[in-house]
Parts: sequence; C-alpha cells; structure tokens
Amino acid sequence: MQYLIIIAVVVVLSCFYTGCKRTGSGSSMSGSGQKQSTVEILPEMYKPVTPQQLAERLDKLAALPAPSIKNISAMCYSPAPLPTKSEYVCPICGEKTLYAVDITAAQQSSSQQGTISFLEWELNQCRTLAKEIKAVSLVLDESKFCQNCTGDLEKPSLGIIVTCPDSQEKHSCYFVSADDLLLIKEFELGRLTHKGDFGNKTPIKGHISRLKQLLGVEVDDE
Ligand SMILES: [Zn+2]
Repeated sequence: MQYLIIIAVVVVLSCFYTGCKRTGSGSSMSGSGQKQSTVEILPEMYKPVTPQQLAERLDKLAALPAPSIKNISAMCYSPAPLPTKSEYVCPICGEKTLYAVDITAAQQSSSQQGTISFLEWELNQCRTLAKEIKAVSLVLDESKFCQNCTGDLEKPSLGIIVTCPDSQEKHSCYFVSADDLLLIKEFELGRLTHKGDFGNKTPIKGHISRLKQLLGVEVDDE
C-alpha cells in the first residue's frame, strides 16, 4: 500500500513538473515571436529627397495601417536629481553662458530648469542624432543658448535648419528635442514605430504633424 502511495505521488509530481516546463517553453516562444516593429517601409529615404518627395512619403506613411504595439513597461525608475546649473560653451564663438537655478528665489522658473536639464541631458544626444540624419540637410542652431551670439536669453531653445537638396529654401524650427530628432531619423529609416520616453513605442504615423513642422512640409487642412 505504501509503495502505491509513493508511486502515485511520483506520477503526480512528474506530471506537474512537465506541465510547468511546457508552459515555460511556450511562453518563451511567444516572446520571441513578436519582432515586427522595425519593418523598413521606405528604405529609399536614406537618399536625399526633394520637398515634394518628403511630402509624398509622409502621405504614404499616413495611409499605412498603424502597427499594433505592446508596451511592457514597469516604471520602476527612480528619477535622477535635476541638475541645478549648466555651463554652455558655444561651438560658434567659444564663449561660455552659465545657466543656474536660483535656489533663493521663492518661485523657481520652470523654463530655466528645463533649459538646464536640456543642456545637461539632451543636447549631446541631439548633436549625435543630427549627424545621423541624411535624407535632408539638417543643421542644429544652438545660437539661442549663447549670450554672446544672441544677446537676449529670453527663450533659449534648440533649433534645426532644414534644407532639401533640390531646394534653396531653408526651413527653421525651434524648441526641438532629442525626441524630435529621433522621430526624423526613424522616419528616414522607414520605421513604423517611434521609441519615446522609457522605451515606450507609439505608431510613427501618430507623429506626422510634428514631422511636418520639423521638416517644413506644408500641413494640409484636415
Ligand atoms: Zn556664441
């Protein structure tokens, strides 16, 4: 009788074990099966394009169905302490402009804090991304951060100056972020998704109006 009980226990345990193993391998397979977000839809975007081609490609993107995206994000990041000062060195004139949060001020200027955080955390990324964009000629305009170049530091922000190869017209846009430049790069690569904060993905077609603003493509009346 004791043997029978032991055999029964062993059989039950082994069934349970193989059952766990199967679900384990099944879930890992489904995990590797979803790798579709980097489909290249417009590989020709790497070639320089005319303003008209840019507009056509944005229309093509708008007509595509949005990809389904699953964001698995557990926000367990503890926010880094905000930088309180930044010394901006102008790449054009070489002068330094110091930005600092006035800790004695009763009310902190959030735009001043935003500028300091941008200079400390984002500007280098923007410079790198700007060099990687090839479809249009894109140059950063950092002059609004430089006291010497601008004289007036009312609204310091990063600008981009975009020129299409077949057009002499220059388009400029200010208050540009690293996220904006990444968006242009993703569009250029024909990506269907945009990787935003904390790696959260969104369909790139949801950002078409921002792309038009950034690239200087006429916005249609919708
Ligand atoms: Zn300067």
